[in-house]
Amino acid sequence: MSADTLLRNATAITMDPDLGVIARADLLIRNGSIVEVGPAGTVGTVDVDEILDLDGRVILPGFVDTHLHLWNSMFRGIITGYGGRAYFPVKRRLAAHVRPEDTAASTALGLAECIGAGITSVVNWHHNLRSPDDADATIDAQVASGARTRLAYGNPDAWNASRPMDLIDVARLLRAPSRPRFDVGLAVRGPTRAEEHVVLEEWTFAQESGLPLTLHMGGRRADVDRYADIAQMDRRGLLIPQLQVVHAVDATPSELVLLGERGVSLSVSPVTEITSMGVPPVTQAMAAGMTVSLSNDSLALPGRADMFAQMQALVRLTQFADPGRAVSPQRALQLATIEGARDLGWESEVGSLSPGKRADMMILDARLPGMGPGVDPVHTVVMAGGVEHVQHVLVDGEWLKRDGRLVADTERVVEEARGAISAVMERAGWPLDDLEGLIGGVGMDE
Ligand SMILES: [Zn+2]
Repeated sequence: MSADTLLRNATAITMDPDLGVIARADLLIRNGSIVEVGPAGTVGTVDVDEILDLDGRVILPGFVDTHLHLWNSMFRGIITGYGGRAYFPVKRRLAAHVRPEDTAASTALGLAECIGAGITSVVNWHHNLRSPDDADATIDAQVASGARTRLAYGNPDAWNASRPMDLIDVARLLRAPSRPRFDVGLAVRGPTRAEEHVVLEEWTFAQESGLPLTLHMGGRRADVDRYADIAQMDRRGLLIPQLQVVHAVDATPSELVLLGERGVSLSVSPVTEITSMGVPPVTQAMAAGMTVSLSNDSLALPGRADMFAQMQALVRLTQFADPGRAVSPQRALQLATIEGARDLGWESEVGSLSPGKRADMMILDARLPGMGPGVDPVHTVVMAGGVEHVQHVLVDGEWLKRDGRLVADTERVVEEARGAISAVMERAGWPLDDLEGLIGGVGMDE
């Protein structure tokens, strides 16, 4: 159980339209919920277990990552981005050798990194879900992390286009007792990678079960086996409000308008997109009325769980690509928090520091180099903030990071992920001179 806590004298960036930014704020957490937020001195102190003075700190809602492939977090360092060590060849080569315990270790690794970086809500986009045991191990790791998570249930990598994902197993999960801060969605392949009867079966299942769907949409239009034909999908009735598309870097203006009209949302991963796909049409998607959220995609590409980097990339790339409608730092922070929550259907629970919502938040130390003096808090946090500033992280009022350290045993988490990737590579017959020397990348170029 989380204790009742009063946080005092911090700058609160609430992301609540009625509360805005409060220069010196008090915030009361009770039973894991935010019960009061207001100017310092105005919030009651009766029966509080702990009062924490946060002078010089900034409180904001935890970030929401709407698309992250946690199963391959452990691949980081192997993938260079080019040649035989580009993302897709490495993924294809290793995916079949990943066992449930490896996925669990990789998931725990990625989520520990997310929590440390202030990311409190995560969609685990599982496109190498190999068995019911894999699903169970993944869910256990997600729940154990303490983060608020969704399993976007997918299929094994390179799965047969004529076979749906294991919907019987999804139905089993939906009947199972609920787990804290956890729900299920479907990560679908869509018409370019699955046959029509498979697409219809998966979409129908999602609609009948009320599950959200998420779909990769390119890649580039030239990647015909990956690019979703939006107009054709609409003719088949597949553009439904519970659908989220990911990337859409080559979507045309008319496709974006169609997606917006149908209530489809968009998850963009600016850092990986500008590295390997193209410039995401964020401003056009917003103009088309789409809900747009942010995601880190994969820690293997290579990258790290870092929503500050995603926001900074988004602001800068739109300043370059569409200066008249560039995304402001304030808007970028909305995408990383409340819009992400809205995309997932979680906006009544999280995404802003609003009374009644769950106490998912981070506290940044604005006294550190890189943030001070921070005259405009929002601009400073978005454009100069970094993971190194994340001092505390709470989910449901529970401290998952405190005084700069994760509550979880991070040494064990990293060690288990290291054991997992070593085992996977050994099973894959990868030519390694020294499994202990993974970080050195010994002899792995093909
Ligand atoms: Zn992805």
